[in-house]
Amino acid sequence: MLTKLRYGNTNTYLIRGTCGNLLVDTDWAGTLPAFYKAIKAQNLSISGISCVLATHYHPDHMGIITELMELGVPLVLFDVQLPYIHFSDSIYKKEKNRFYKPIDENRAKVLSCGRSRAFLASLGISGEVIHTPGHSQDSISLLLDDGNAVVGDLPPYSALTAMDDETVLKSYEKILSRGVTKLHYGHMVSERVQAGNSVQVLINK
Ligand SMILES: [Zn+2]
Repeated sequence: MLTKLRYGNTNTYLIRGTCGNLLVDTDWAGTLPAFYKAIKAQNLSISGISCVLATHYHPDHMGIITELMELGVPLVLFDVQLPYIHFSDSIYKKEKNRFYKPIDENRAKVLSCGRSRAFLASLGISGEVIHTPGHSQDSISLLLDDGNAVVGDLPPYSALTAMDDETVLKSYEKILSRGVTKLHYGHMVSERVQAGNSVQVLINK
């Protein structure tokens, strides 16, 4: 089951599995108290979060990951994201954010997207993670077998006809070929996917 957790300016998502709960994205560094309130409203404490992952490593999607790791929440990193996990360090340094702590990748569990289905199954979640670059090189999407997909900051599906970015179109082609029916974004309202709308046509236009 997918629940939107909003405690700042980013939509973050809690996926409840039969054996554990996955947090997808966090807000800005400094939002930990607000995060506590948001999970309390879901009748969860920090120990109820089995692990966290980020759709990409921009500051508004990963700001409290190190704090969560220090509280015992493991980070699952995908190998395609490894070169980018310190992308936000200089941004937080510039704004003198006193809450931000860079991620220690040596303490993360690093997976390939190909291993994501087995990893999600260990939490009792049916789905997979795929690499969907376009907004950033390190962007991944979580596709649940029930048709829900968390795609982070990928440009909206509703704007695809106006898009000529082949990387974005190819990412959507991958997403839509897997039977996704609803897209959940980092900063916008969720959108339903209309059946039969072919991204391939746009790629070849
Ligand atoms: Zn972003």
